[in-house]
Amino acid sequence: MKFLKTLGAIALLAASQFTHAQAWPAKNVTWIVPFAAGGPTDAMARDIADKVSRQLGQPVIIENTPGAGGTIGAAKAAKAPADGYTFLVGHMGYMGAGPALYKKLSYDPVKDFEAVFRFPDTPLVMLVGKNSPYKNAGELVAAAKAQPGKINFSNAGVGSTSHLIAALFAARAGIDVTQVAYKGAAPAINDLIGGQVDAMFDQSNTALPQVQGGRLNAIALTSLTAMPQQYPNVPPLADKTLPGFEAATWYGLYAPKGTAKDIVQKMHQSYLKALADKAWTERMAGQGIHLLPEAQYAPDAFAKHTAAEVERWRKVVRDAKIQLD
Ligand code: ASP
Repeated sequence: MKFLKTLGAIALLAASQFTHAQAWPAKNVTWIVPFAAGGPTDAMARDIADKVSRQLGQPVIIENTPGAGGTIGAAKAAKAPADGYTFLVGHMGYMGAGPALYKKLSYDPVKDFEAVFRFPDTPLVMLVGKNSPYKNAGELVAAAKAQPGKINFSNAGVGSTSHLIAALFAARAGIDVTQVAYKGAAPAINDLIGGQVDAMFDQSNTALPQVQGGRLNAIALTSLTAMPQQYPNVPPLADKTLPGFEAATWYGLYAPKGTAKDIVQKMHQSYLKALADKAWTERMAGQGIHLLPEAQYAPDAFAKHTAAEVERWRKVVRDAKIQLD
């Protein structure tokens, strides 16, 4: 009798897990974007969420939770119920460099999350105002050498990619710059356009309309190769100013630890189906977004990538002496 009861319980449990997976998603799914609306993380997340939601058959709602370079939104996602209805859009900053940058981080990018899928990567571009005296990165470096700390870089928050790349650039160039933190790249760009700050590194895709619209000048790229289609006549930093310098931002979707594997798989499969739309992937490539081999988008590969990045950034932060102040 006891044996039968146990069997019954196992059967019930299996059945409930089965219907759980079958029924998901039964309502809206939320993706937390830990930056202000209108910036690169937000733009990329909204674009991908729109395509994925069509495959899922339920709306994906973007919730902007900005502050502290993405760590506030990431902490919120880590504590969310692992029921398949809350996800985090993560990037190289708070999910890669975070543990090396913050002494007390309330979440662990590896232990507190399930990696769901990786987005395509985006290189960055160094931007200056329309009336800036700096026509190329070499001139900016020379000015910073002449007057240490004089040049202000706006960024999307302490630990954001715009902050990290500016710090890496300054370390490699041997200059001191002053970093000014905002709640996302969108407000940081606004102040660059307004002339309150001198320069900023922004993702190449969201910077493009500002450059093409004549509001900002692009003076250098962080990719190793030029982007003649998107940024004609803008050289990679590696060309002259900093040989070998290369940086890009990676992004991806995470779920709170313990989210059912079949939910993670279904989300990933929906993304792969969306990526089969060539018109969409060609549009992304046209904006300078780097599409990756399909295997790199997978949950396992993205989990390994996250863990490797956490280790890589420990060394980078130590070597470049990046400090949060
Ligand atoms: N991803 C950007 C950064 O870290 C921030 C943003 O999307 O607003 O620089």
